[in-house]
Amino acid sequence: MYDVKFVYGKLSQIAMADEKEKKKVVALLSGGLDSQLAVRMMQEQGFDVSAVAIKTPFCDFDCGRGCGFEIRERADDLNVNLKTVYLGDEYIEMLKHPKHGIGAGFNPCVDCRTMMFDAAKKHMEEIGAEFIISGEVLGQRPMSQHAPSLHIIENESNLKGKIVRPLSAGLLPATDAEKDGLIKRENLGMIKGRQRKIQMKMAKEYGIENPPNAGGGCLLTEPQFGIKAKDLFDHVETPTINEIDLLKIGRHFRLDEETKFVVGRNKDENQMIKALALPGDILFEAKDYVGPISILRGKNAKSHVNFASAVTLRYSDAPKTEHGIVLVKNGDSIDEITAECAEEQSYLKFRM
Ligand code: SF4
Repeated sequence: MYDVKFVYGKLSQIAMADEKEKKKVVALLSGGLDSQLAVRMMQEQGFDVSAVAIKTPFCDFDCGRGCGFEIRERADDLNVNLKTVYLGDEYIEMLKHPKHGIGAGFNPCVDCRTMMFDAAKKHMEEIGAEFIISGEVLGQRPMSQHAPSLHIIENESNLKGKIVRPLSAGLLPATDAEKDGLIKRENLGMIKGRQRKIQMKMAKEYGIENPPNAGGGCLLTEPQFGIKAKDLFDHVETPTINEIDLLKIGRHFRLDEETKFVVGRNKDENQMIKALALPGDILFEAKDYVGPISILRGKNAKSHVNFASAVTLRYSDAPKTEHGIVLVKNGDSIDEITAECAEEQSYLKFRM
């Protein structure tokens, strides 16, 4: 057997312990720095780490680069196997009534983490791993990373004693791994709170280049997105992925209990609005001016056509004082409506 010795930043240079003797652990890998550090700490201590990454309909950790691209890159850098688990319908179900409530945005962090650990637990059992690690730091996040929440998450996912948080474990009760002598307290971190100095220093020492920021990119924590998400869940029994994707783009207006209006903000969003349009949705576009594509969705859509045309024209390059023609596409039919640019006060009151 070789001595286990870590050479910062170059896993290929780690003098590995005999592969057969390595104990397996499962890491919950997010898009953030902390989970990467947790993986490195465990590798340094001679564990064979496999990663599980969770995607939900509200992740944006790799927006624009293809689904899962960035997290795969991170896993490659860390030299770990990666399993990606998608929580879709069951996540939306949970979000309808999160048992432990929501945070400052629309983030059900305690219930969400419980689901993530459930997925990691399955993987742990599948591959015969000893325990699960995560990059959680005591007190870093208001909702899910205070000691009581950590405790609840462990209990709810039936993982009492099986979750090691290497960055803060020196400040937490001993886990089974510590009691069984698999890990030693002196090798565990004692990081607490929102300060990131120690993590940045560790990143440097471990050779992690361009360390990402603390979070993993969750839209539910963003206040503005939270307002739109709450509105959707208040008005639709079980939102679809299409409805959730629409929340991620455009300016949103709640016109009545049954009807929403969304106005694109740029060319990409215009394309996405067209792609997300479903039978029954009505699309709008100024005929003679550069401007947004807008979408009217809901039972009362037809009664808002004139209003939506006026707002669409208002957000276009059309002179605000003149009339303009708006193309109104409803299924296969395209009508032309002559509209006046809407006055700001007539529509801003509906804006979310
Ligand atoms: S920030 Fe988002 S992804 Fe992270 S635990 Fe909270 S709800 Fe889940």
